[in-house]
Amino acid sequence: MTRECGSVLGATRSCVTVNTAQIQENCQIYRKLLQPGQQIMAVVKADAYGHGDAETADALSKIGIRDFAVSNILEAVRLREHGIEGQILILGYTDPRDARALAEYDITQALLSEEYALALKAACPRRIKCHAALDTGMRRIGLNADDPERCERVIRAAARDFDLTGLFTHLCAADSDREDDREFTEKQIAAFRRVAERVKDLHLEYVHCLNSAGGLWHNAGGGMVRLGIVLYGLKPDASNLLPCGIEPALEWKSVVSQVKEVLPGDSIGYGRTYRVTRPMTVATIPTGYADGYRRELSNKGYVLINGSRAPVVGRVCMDQFMTDVTGIPDVHMGTEAVLIGRSGSETVTADDLAGLCGTIGYEIVCGISKRVLRIYQ
Ligand SMILES: *Cc1c(COP(=O)(O)O)cnc(C)c1O
Repeated sequence: MTRECGSVLGATRSCVTVNTAQIQENCQIYRKLLQPGQQIMAVVKADAYGHGDAETADALSKIGIRDFAVSNILEAVRLREHGIEGQILILGYTDPRDARALAEYDITQALLSEEYALALKAACPRRIKCHAALDTGMRRIGLNADDPERCERVIRAAARDFDLTGLFTHLCAADSDREDDREFTEKQIAAFRRVAERVKDLHLEYVHCLNSAGGLWHNAGGGMVRLGIVLYGLKPDASNLLPCGIEPALEWKSVVSQVKEVLPGDSIGYGRTYRVTRPMTVATIPTGYADGYRRELSNKGYVLINGSRAPVVGRVCMDQFMTDVTGIPDVHMGTEAVLIGRSGSETVTADDLAGLCGTIGYEIVCGISKRVLRIYQ
């Protein structure tokens, strides 16, 4: 179903269009690059990086993806209630007091530590599905893989106490092409393999250590890839080159609410941070930082109007910001403004905005708030 932003009440103000066919395409392209037998677990945490988790999971189910990862129990339950039938893995912390819901909804939980495993077991008599998490160097969650014997002991205990179906770790520098980072990543993978080898006899079905970047640049085969950012067509790191055909799946559009002429001596916006030095035409856009249009873009960002770049002038407000449309023809109330996407031959991507904000594309798309309507095509 294709619906243009604008045919839905309130959508023209600020609207994200998600192209689920592009998410499918990105997944298929990535899948072709994998080693024989490798599967994809689609990472749809944080509402599929702002793209809509139910819609993304539905689209991916249609091309045969059965395994999904989320960050917390609310995300997991929502997907299950939506009708997703395959594996749903929670990559992070679930309060042991919520353990019964894990069993009830047939959700798989990451075992973060020995302490966590004991608490989870004590909280729920039913055999919960789990994957043991290994810390191979990120120092976030998981059993410390520097002590393989202890890892083995805890994993074997977990196999008795839970329905242990997997083992995983997370790479923390797989997107870097620096030599020391590449070595670090290879060490992480080797440490993971060492522990996996020790518990081989448990025949764990899901043994996985690769994220988007790992699957592209550190993939020696085996296991499953937890594919996140590349599904959505964005780069793990600004320095990366993505495989041909992988494209952003989201567009964000707003509109011009008012056009005005300003004169030298005027200032624009809160704090008067933009000082006008020549006659200018300013277009106001009714989207702001409460929508996720970052305040760091004040006097730095740009939108696309009628195929031209219109720089952000002054500070981004909560609900609006101003742009310089001087010399851009035919700009009036109701003209489309592209915040992320394409207009004529110009494009602006979430990765571009991230560069201007000193962050990563992940944070830009995750940050597009609930207030912005999502339309699916
Ligand atoms: C978010 C996350 C991923 C996905 O990472 P991408 O870089 O988006 O592919 C994979 N594994 C874990 C544990 C994560 O937290």
